[in-house]
Amino acid sequence: LEWLYSYMIRLRLPGGFLTPEQWAGLHEIAGDHSTGVIKITTRQTIQLHGILKSHVKPTIQQFNLQHLDSIAACGDVNRNVTCTSNPSESPLHQEVYELAGKISEMCLPKTKSYYDLWIDEEMVIDRKAEEDPLYQDRYLPRKLKIGIAVPPNNDVDVFINDIALIAVIENGKISGYNIAAGGGMGATHGNDATYARLASVLGFVDTEEKALKAVYEIITVQRDFGNRSDRKLSRLKYTIDKLGIDGYREEVEKRTGFSFEEAREFTFEQRKDRYGWVQNHEGKWFFTVFVEHGRVLDTEDYPLKSGLLKIAETGKANFRFTCNQNLILSDILEEDKSEIESILKEHGISSYTEEASPLRKNSVACVALNTCSLALAEGQRYLPVLVTKIEPVLEKYGLQNEDITIRMTGCPNGCGRSPNAEIGLVGTAYGRYNLHIGGDRLGMRLNTKFKENIDEEEILQTLDELFGIYSKTKTDEDTFGDFSYRYLQTAK
Ligand code: SF4
Repeated sequence: LEWLYSYMIRLRLPGGFLTPEQWAGLHEIAGDHSTGVIKITTRQTIQLHGILKSHVKPTIQQFNLQHLDSIAACGDVNRNVTCTSNPSESPLHQEVYELAGKISEMCLPKTKSYYDLWIDEEMVIDRKAEEDPLYQDRYLPRKLKIGIAVPPNNDVDVFINDIALIAVIENGKISGYNIAAGGGMGATHGNDATYARLASVLGFVDTEEKALKAVYEIITVQRDFGNRSDRKLSRLKYTIDKLGIDGYREEVEKRTGFSFEEAREFTFEQRKDRYGWVQNHEGKWFFTVFVEHGRVLDTEDYPLKSGLLKIAETGKANFRFTCNQNLILSDILEEDKSEIESILKEHGISSYTEEASPLRKNSVACVALNTCSLALAEGQRYLPVLVTKIEPVLEKYGLQNEDITIRMTGCPNGCGRSPNAEIGLVGTAYGRYNLHIGGDRLGMRLNTKFKENIDEEEILQTLDELFGIYSKTKTDEDTFGDFSYRYLQTAK
């Protein structure tokens, strides 16, 4: 008898977009083959868990019928390309969304094995036709992540990516992109050579064509110079620190045949999702649904999954995912808004979104136990419980309306981007976490470890003390992240 293996499948969805028909298809596929929970990830896509080995092929085949695939969603290749989520944020969103798709296509492995294996297409005999100038015969030393932000919103948390593009907007148009490289959240407990890092800006390019070329060659430099002998030190961030930023830039410029211009000014003003209803410049409506840690399921008192299916069945809203694990019902016409609104109300979705506290709405957690085999501690199952215990502490100090970001991961791999939060909790063992503080609210400064391997009681006690001091000293603009950063400096 074979072990009862089960698998996770993640979709490739550059920019995180599904039509209502695709959402309805996803709903069915999740029910037929997985645990039934649709998990929205921090990379603007979805994962299905608990797929038994015999169900893997039917799942992929059903996705294929929906024109969806899982190619390069895992492995040592470029992963899902993320971009600023909400089209209502900027009339330039479509341009950036299309760029995400172009980058994704450009970086797809050329092999057709996926179709040979899973879709039963005719086996490709002519392997020469599959020659891959980007990955050649060796792929990358490690996975690679790319994100694009449209300021002033950094909802995509752009600097955590191996390659980060920041659209530069001048006179209402995208005049080019600042390009950064070397971000990555993962580290290993007890290995000081590993660390989380934010991407460093290499410079500015003034056309989309140059942006694509620069991204391509940043990847080839990582392919050729990345560490292939130690996987723990193989992400692009280590290569950039090995070559130096100037050295990495020079090598990229040698390959592109053009130089980066000096980086242009940009300002981020927020990183959170804009919950509830907003209207865009074309008069279309968008409703951002708060989905705690991206888990779309029905519970006894909250039929979220059924409500979303009902909305999909109207065919009157598209589905877009955010890097904060939420869902935007998008492109809704004025005449269809009331129908969508009544489904949202009927299923408690609008009230759930409105009533969740700012702390809860700014929380992110990875899957962790009992699903991720690398997890040392709980993530998405426990953070909601912990937030419920932190909320009264905030209230005690009148801080309940503060937009504090809190993120939890079950291990230091950083899938939930805990190093880039105002409060980061990194699992060390069952029920125990390292507590990090001092990250900024906009995703431009990482946090620092403050307490090691502490349990719930100590987490709550520590936060109680910090919130107490913060409430006494804060001015209107002072965020908890900035306060705790200063606190760490004085405590040294
Ligand atoms: Fe990623 Fe670690 Fe969380 Fe697993 S437990 S999802 S590897 S951060």
